[in-house]
Amino acid sequence: MDALCPVCAQPMNWVKGDYHCDTCQSEYRQLADCPDCGQPLQELKACGAVDYLCQHGHGLISKKRVKFSYQLVE
Ligand SMILES: [Zn+2]
Ligand SMILES: [Zn+2]
Repeated sequence: MDALCPVCAQPMNWVKGDYHCDTCQSEYRQLADCPDCGQPLQELKACGAVDYLCQHGHGLISKKRVKFSYQLVE
């Protein structure tokens, strides 16, 4: 899955825990929100896979349903 830059819509590179857009020369942090309540999801990392947990009653959210957004890292 490619992460696209929220500004220029070009594919971004994964660099040291954040996404880097070569075109914008900017770093973006990926945020995962619950598709049901819009609250940030807790990331549960296990065995190389990542699960997403909604702490507001929606339980585990499959990665396909997670709403990803990108926040500029200052
Ligand atoms: Zn960009
Ligand atoms: Zn939720």
